[in-house]
Amino acid sequence: RNSGEAVTCEVDPGSKIKHNIIIASGKGGVGKSTVSVNLARALLLDGFKVGILDADITGPNIPKLLGIEDRSLVLGEEGIRPADAGGIKAASMALVLSSPDSPVVWRGPMKMAAIKQFIQDVDWGELDFLIIDLPPGTSDEPLSVVQLIPDLAGAIIVTTPQEVSLLDSRKAVNMVKTMKLPVIGIIENMAGLMCPHCHQRIDIFQSGGGERMAEEMNVRFLGSIPIDPQVCSLGDAGQTFVEGDTPAADIFRLIVERLKN
Ligand code: ADP
Repeated sequence: RNSGEAVTCEVDPGSKIKHNIIIASGKGGVGKSTVSVNLARALLLDGFKVGILDADITGPNIPKLLGIEDRSLVLGEEGIRPADAGGIKAASMALVLSSPDSPVVWRGPMKMAAIKQFIQDVDWGELDFLIIDLPPGTSDEPLSVVQLIPDLAGAIIVTTPQEVSLLDSRKAVNMVKTMKLPVIGIIENMAGLMCPHCHQRIDIFQSGGGERMAEEMNVRFLGSIPIDPQVCSLGDAGQTFVEGDTPAADIFRLIVERLKN
């Protein structure tokens, strides 16, 4: 294959990527990227070949969460070579920018051109799963990204328990349904804080909203991840938490089982 030629994404016997899965959210800051990297890691630990496409062009945080922000993407013979994060292949705008603090101030069409290039020209090789971290929200941007990716297997929606977040997440579920894509399920993140002293759960943003919303919208509820200072510090250190023996890690193992079936 020439370097300019499109990478095949079809789910056919000759396919290089078996399952394209998008991770979406109604708004930013709810933990969409955290879910993307931990799901990728959980799949890797289960023996799958995994890649992550950071389609959040303006806020590309995947390399930071994977601890590879000092790398750069290079052009190989088969196309753009993804960076390797302990076995996870990753492509992100942050691996192209000269400084991690450089703002990306591209307008819509340029962003789409960049994402298109990531989809077509990255030499992912053989992958069981490509996790695509969508831009947040339900504007033209995430919608256009979804339209660019052929043969999507489905979407996971990440929400937090506040009413405003749930309202936006409903829109994200509807966006996915409108595009005739299966909703794999909803993850509620930042659901309560376990007090390290008294071990009681403090429901800072109420609780159970994600599950109720999933029920109302007739989609599967995948589980709740509590607020955990370790999730944040591990993320900041470029590490995942799915290796551990915590309820949050269990959720990802459950999702892997669901994706296998
Ligand atoms: P998004 O991709 O939706 O913008 P991120 O995954 O970048 O959100 O998460 C935003 C911030 O919140 C990060 O610093 C991350 O480490 C932190 N975070 C995410 N989930 C949790 C959690 N369950 N507990 C504590 N911090 C979290």
